[in-house]
Order: sequence, then structure tokens, then C-alpha cells
Amino acid sequence: MTVVTRFAPSPTGFLHIGGGRTALFNWLYAKRHGGKMLLRIEDTDRERSTDAAIAAILDGIKWLGLDWDRDVVYQFSRAARHREVAESLLAKGRAYYCYASQQELEEMRETARKEGRPLRYDGRWRDRDPSEAPEGVKPVIRLKAPTEGETVVEDEVQGRVVWQNKDLDDLVLLRSDGTPTYMLAVVVDDHDMDVTHVIRGDDHLTNAARQTQIYQALGWGVPKMAHIPLIHGPDGAKLSKRHGALGVEAYRSMGYLPEALRNYLVRLGWSHGDQEIFSTQEMIDAFDLGSIGRSPARFDFAKLENLNGHYMRQADDEQLVQALEDLLPELDKDEHHLGRTLKPALRQKLIAAMPGLKERAKTLVELLDSAYYLYAQRPLHLDEKAASLLADGRSRLVGVAEKLEALSDWSAQSVEAVVREHAEAIGAKLGQVAQPLRAALTGRATSPGLFDVMAVLGKDETLLRLRDQTKDAPAA
Ligand code: GLU
Repeated sequence: MTVVTRFAPSPTGFLHIGGGRTALFNWLYAKRHGGKMLLRIEDTDRERSTDAAIAAILDGIKWLGLDWDRDVVYQFSRAARHREVAESLLAKGRAYYCYASQQELEEMRETARKEGRPLRYDGRWRDRDPSEAPEGVKPVIRLKAPTEGETVVEDEVQGRVVWQNKDLDDLVLLRSDGTPTYMLAVVVDDHDMDVTHVIRGDDHLTNAARQTQIYQALGWGVPKMAHIPLIHGPDGAKLSKRHGALGVEAYRSMGYLPEALRNYLVRLGWSHGDQEIFSTQEMIDAFDLGSIGRSPARFDFAKLENLNGHYMRQADDEQLVQALEDLLPELDKDEHHLGRTLKPALRQKLIAAMPGLKERAKTLVELLDSAYYLYAQRPLHLDEKAASLLADGRSRLVGVAEKLEALSDWSAQSVEAVVREHAEAIGAKLGQVAQPLRAALTGRATSPGLFDVMAVLGKDETLLRLRDQTKDAPAA
């Protein structure tokens, strides 16, 4: 049997982080077994489905480094097939027309409310002859579900889950306007797409019971099911925006690398011993449904940041610069004044400075920010800490520019010797000169090694920046 999984998002919003994880699990399971992962866009809710959401979902999947087999299936386009299957159930006597009016349903709901139980359709048209149908009422088609016994889902994650059939009512398959319900469409599509494994969030677990009844009525084999616990926030509450319930593209804009997010997501609810770092191949080789936990995974931003830092430090410097460039159009405002592409000279400087820069940054956005000194326009904007370092130490820099200017060979070593000598000459500690000097050259209180910064900036730019900050200062 070839494994066929599918990812079946409803395009009513972006690809959120939970959806990204579901897609990843489906993809990994398919790859692990040499199978296929299909993509189905569940766009039957015409009011809420949008093209923008479809585009965002496809983009999100691709950015995560996942792909799908065959053409994307659009559920809405299959409406005629869904209707045909509903009618075939009618013909087999496994479904029936129901003419209950809105008012009757409302009364049933009211009774259920009074008795403190969920609405159950009472089956009043189950055995009635359609010749009794009221004039001018368009019927829905309902499944003639079993009233006794049990419906069982042998779930790969949740184990054996049992429902009493008396608690499950006759669900609607086809609405009175001829459109299929979600419950019918999913079953027909999964069957027609030869899906062997349904891996999705456990908010669909009850649907699994109802879908099982539809499969059984049709005489079709039920695919294997794996319902994964949802993602919760670090405090155990349902994941909210504050916790990170954002679209995958928001993570891209925050400066996470797709390989880091992928690695983070695979560990969210699934484990393989205590291994935390997985290459894509390692994930594929190790992934299984049995090691998915049964309790909700907790989203942890700090862990994601650490993983991202790890992948950035490992990344090739040129590729990292490319990732920075790709991020530029995503940044909210062009506060760095970089535009959308990197000028060749800046690209070179970034590549040269990358070994120092990537050691500290946790995200690409931080990386770009820490590279500020490379692309800053004079006179530099000083952040608060840098301004206070200079307020305190500006006078200790007077005279350094002249000494540096005299250097014929400009390198990290030669500038370091000059700065040390200057500190000694004015009776200051190295840090008392280096800190305000760093502030003057980078606009920040922290940066990669100061002498490396000076080497990358070059003599001219270093002197211009230094003079911008010291021109009117009295000597120490
Ligand atoms: N379209 C459903 C959703 O986005 C998923 C249906 C399924 O996986 O069966 O929640």
C-alpha cells in the first residue's frame, strides 16, 4: 500500500502555526514511507474563503520547505461529485430526505437546551414517506446513521475512541441548496484521492466518528486516523496571538529561518528520545505517529529563538546575507533606509562581518539591526545607551582620530595598537576609550569586536564617524 496523506486547510486565513505543523507531520509521514502528500484547499465556505488566503497558505507551505504531490484539489470544484455520492446513499436507503422546517429544528434545540444536552435531530423524517412532504419545502439529505451499538475510531495517537451511536444524530450530508456539508465533502474527497492516513488536529476527533459512519454507509474503507493534540501557550491556555498563534509568514517577517521553524515545529508534540536538533533527513528517518504525545504541546518562543540562533550560526555567510536581503521587502517600515536590495559594496561588507555578527543574533531582524554600523548614514543615529556612553566618554576620544589618521596600514591589529596606546597616554583603561569609540562608530553600546568593526568600516569611514562625534569636544 502506498501511503497517501493530505493537508486540507480551509482558506479563511493565513497558514497559522498549527496548520504549518499539521502540514509538516503529513509531509514527514509521507516521506518516511515513500508515499505522497496531497494538498486540498477546502474552499466550500464561499463567504469566508479568499484567494489571498489560498496564496498565503501555498506560500507558507513552500517557505517551510514542504511540497505536495499532484495538483492542488479545490474542494468546491467537486460539488457535483459530492451531490452524486449523497444521492447514491439515498438510492441505497442509507440516507433520506428531511423536510423539517427551521421552526421544528428550533423547537428541538429548545427542548435539548432545557434538558441540558446538545441538539440531536430526532430522526422524524427517517422513516417517513416523502409523499408526506410539505409543499414548497426543499429538503436536506441526512445520513441514516445507526441508532444502536458503537462507532469506534482506532486512532494512531489517541488510541481507541468509542462513541455510543445513540448519542450521534443523523447528520446533514447535503444542504437544501444542494451544497455538501464539510462532513460529506471530506469523506468523498479523501476516498477519491486515495488517502490512506488522515493526520490533523484533535479538534476534528468527533468529526472522525461522524465521518466513519459515512464511510461505513458507503461501504468504503476508513483511512487510518491520527488526531494530534493542539498547540497551547506556555501557560497551558489555548494558543492566542500573544503566545505565537500567528501566520507562518509572521515568523518569516520576524526573521526566523525556515529550517529553524521546521525543526521547532517537529518537536512540538513529537519526540525522538531527547534529540532537539534534526536535519530534514533525520526528521524523515525518525518520524512516526506513535511518538506523538497525547497532551497539548506548549509553544515556547525562547526555544524557537535558540534554535534559530543555532541555525544562523551554522549557516553559510553568503546564504545568510541572501536571507537578509530576501527579508528586506517584508520589513514593516524601511527604518534602515536600505531599500529592497543590498548594494554590492554593502553586501561585501556584510559577508565580511558575518562571522562576528551571527554569533550573537537570535533572528535575522536582530542580525540586520546589529549590522547597523555597516549601512548607517552619517551622522549616525545613536541609541540611548550609545548616547550616554558618549556623553560620558566623548572627551577621552579627542586626539584618537589624528593618531589613527597617521596609520598607513589599516587593520584590526594596527588600529588596536593605536587605541591601546591612546588609552595609556591619557591614563584611562582600554574600556573607557573603547566603549565611547564603539558608540561613535556603531551608534550602539554593543557590537562585534571593536577592532574588527574598524577594519570592516575602513579608514575613511571610521575617521568621518569619529570626527562627527568629537569635533567640538574638549580634551579629557
Ligand atoms: N479544513 C479543515 C480545517 O482547516 C481540515 C479538515 C481535515 O483535515 O479533515 O480545519
